[in-house]
Amino acid sequence: MIKKYYRPQSLPDAFLLLNKPNTIPLAGGTYITTEINSEFNVVDLQDLGLDKVVVQNQKIEIGSTTKLQQLHQNQHIPEFFRTAIKLEAPLNIRNSASLGGLLVTCDGRSPVATSLLALDARIILDPDREEILISNFFSFRSSITRKRLITSIILPSLQNFSFAYVARTPFDRPIVSTAMSMWMNGRSRLALGGYGAQPLLVIDGQILDDISLAARSAFSNAEDEWASAYYRSEMAGVLATRCLKIIKNKFGKQ
Ligand SMILES: Cc1cc2nc3c(=O)[nH]c(=O)nc-3n(C[C@H](O)[C@H](O)[C@H](O)COP(=O)(O)OP(=O)(O)OC[C@H]3O[C@@H](n4cnc5c(N)ncnc54)[C@H](O)[C@@H]3O)c2cc1C
Repeated sequence: MIKKYYRPQSLPDAFLLLNKPNTIPLAGGTYITTEINSEFNVVDLQDLGLDKVVVQNQKIEIGSTTKLQQLHQNQHIPEFFRTAIKLEAPLNIRNSASLGGLLVTCDGRSPVATSLLALDARIILDPDREEILISNFFSFRSSITRKRLITSIILPSLQNFSFAYVARTPFDRPIVSTAMSMWMNGRSRLALGGYGAQPLLVIDGQILDDISLAARSAFSNAEDEWASAYYRSEMAGVLATRCLKIIKNKFGKQ
């Protein structure tokens, strides 16, 4: 439950407020407002201008308070990443939830987090503009974000990107998803989503071996209330192969 509400007009003011005891950032509020069992103060980030998407030198820098729906509609965002954003949550939640808030709260089922892992996104943390690889961010996020803010998320220069999934219906959250990036020099990243506390990076390098086998092995124990490990493992193999085919067919890569 929110005790005190602050709305700073600058980043330095926001950091001063965040240093007060029991005070946390508030972005879209879709998660925070469900926390009714504890009392805390919030620092609303909405007037800090962190909702811009800037494209420079083929990199895309996304301000952390950018709403998911804003991103979904942005033509600079790769087509298959926009598909993943649409799957993340229904329209009314996408209109409120921010990318920064999602990174703090998401689990392995998140299609956006799975895509960002494959895209090799960098998380910018302030006040000292520390750049953290997304794979490291997931492991340490609870300690990293205390008294610090995610101010932006950087997608490195462009890659070919694809995303595939299976779900109960076309607009449900995926039971299994795969996201793949491929760069001009042949470097590829494959991430699996749909299970666990965070998405899983399976490949970062050249795809030399059987990609289906790598994906199946990575999900060989991925069992929960949504699906058996056998099902997830088989689907991961099929979807990883599909992602590679999409990249080959659509972008002419081998
Ligand atoms: C009805 C409903 C349905 C939902 N469905 C789903 C779903 O299907 N899948 C799903 O994954 N989520 C779902 N959510 C949760 C929600 O969509 C995500 O948690 C959301 O992305 C959080 O974003 P936010 O901007 O609203 O964050 P907030 O609620 O404002 O904040 C979330 C957390 O992140 C911290 N935070 C926010 N911004 C920053 C920042 N820039 N730097 C550091 N810390 C920050 C906050 O302090 C807080 O701890 C749902 C929520 C609701 C209310």
